[in-house]
Amino acid sequence: MEASERDSRADRAREAVDRLAADGVDGVALTWVDTSGITRVKAVPLARLPHAAAWGAGAAPVFDTFLVDDGSVLGRFAGGPVGDLRLHPDLDRLVPLAATPGWAWAPAERFDQAGVPHPLDGRWLVRREVGRLGADGIHVRAGFEVEWCVSRGPGDAFTPATTGPAYGMIRLVELAPYLREVLAALAAQGVAVEQIHPEYAHGQFEVSVAPEDPLGAADTVVLAQETIRAVSAAHGLRPSFAPKVVAGAVGNGRHVHLSLWRDGASLMSGGGGPLGLDRVGEAFAAGILDRLPALLALGAPSVASYLRLMPSLWAGAYACWGLENREAALRMIAGPNANLEVKCVDAAANPYLLLAGLLAAGRAGVAAAARLPDPVPVDPAVLAPGERAERGIERLPESLTAAVVAFEADEVLAAALGPAVIDTVATVRRGEIALFEGADDETVVAATRWRY
Ligand code: GLU
Ligand code: MG
Repeated sequence: MEASERDSRADRAREAVDRLAADGVDGVALTWVDTSGITRVKAVPLARLPHAAAWGAGAAPVFDTFLVDDGSVLGRFAGGPVGDLRLHPDLDRLVPLAATPGWAWAPAERFDQAGVPHPLDGRWLVRREVGRLGADGIHVRAGFEVEWCVSRGPGDAFTPATTGPAYGMIRLVELAPYLREVLAALAAQGVAVEQIHPEYAHGQFEVSVAPEDPLGAADTVVLAQETIRAVSAAHGLRPSFAPKVVAGAVGNGRHVHLSLWRDGASLMSGGGGPLGLDRVGEAFAAGILDRLPALLALGAPSVASYLRLMPSLWAGAYACWGLENREAALRMIAGPNANLEVKCVDAAANPYLLLAGLLAAGRAGVAAAARLPDPVPVDPAVLAPGERAERGIERLPESLTAAVVAFEADEVLAAALGPAVIDTVATVRRGEIALFEGADDETVVAATRWRY
């Protein structure tokens, strides 16, 4: 990072300090998401923001190899007690936290002491993939759906805060002040909510947000999640975004919507491909579909993810695509806002790593002019095994171990993300597999329920 860049970052931060002080802000939370999907934070007093903008706040690189239980492992490229990174806030996203009075937030990008981007930094990886697609004239818009279950009561058991039915108005009425404040806080922070509703599982809700550029979408989902957490706490509630909150029940997804654009025109509708996809849009989708088993190491990265990713729970457990098909891992949504929804992923994913992987897979599909198989118009689980095989519909990996094997064998992801990312992700996944070796479902769910 050039000296002039540091100076201009400090100048911009000084202007922000005045604005935030007038809003009553005393501290700024600088967050990044670790490899196991946990949002970690270092915070600075407001007056220190210009220094952090120019020189970063210190953070150990060991977080790259942290596990869900705060243990850590040692990889070939990351882990261990030595070294220091600098967290530089992205001032474009700096915002007062509406539900955490006195605090502002900015997503941080990790650099080394010399100002060189850290090769495992998720935001940097997304920027690089966006740049690679942009060089081919392709632009992506993305948005995450946030599902969570709300609990009330003491202890670590899950006690649904509302007993109203799935999608039931009872739930909205019972928790109206809470849900209203979720909306108000997100709006105050500039998060464009499109919809909020009670979901299927006990005490479950969902917020969907407007699409934006991929980096913005990943930042937004971090902000939305932590805002919902703060509003929940203020109402004596506890949210769980974990893949599985109650063993055997429907889990929390964190579906990703992707649309593709060239020169302002959608490549997902009005084209000559299947279901109106443009051929480039089709190739992008096919690139993702082909690599879903490997991508699960990024998108369904917890042992608990595989308790969620089961047939007939709307989680998209089969590697296929279909129009509006909620049992397909890739659900095509047609119409004026045509987009592709990746359903098989959850909130244990680091949203930055996941998007970087999805974009890389899509780009490889475009480069190969890949074609999609026939869309699947039914729940694949109701087809006889022979018919599934005939149509080429395969079950996605049924364990984290299987996903990691596919991930490590994937040459496209290796070339796009680089050896440090591949090795560190695989090492962390193996660490969590070992952590839960021999554990029953209840134990896995209990150990992950309040970590996300
Ligand atoms: N909760 C489901 C999941 O685990 C998704 C329900 C829906 O289709 O929105 O992905
Ligand atoms: Mg949903």
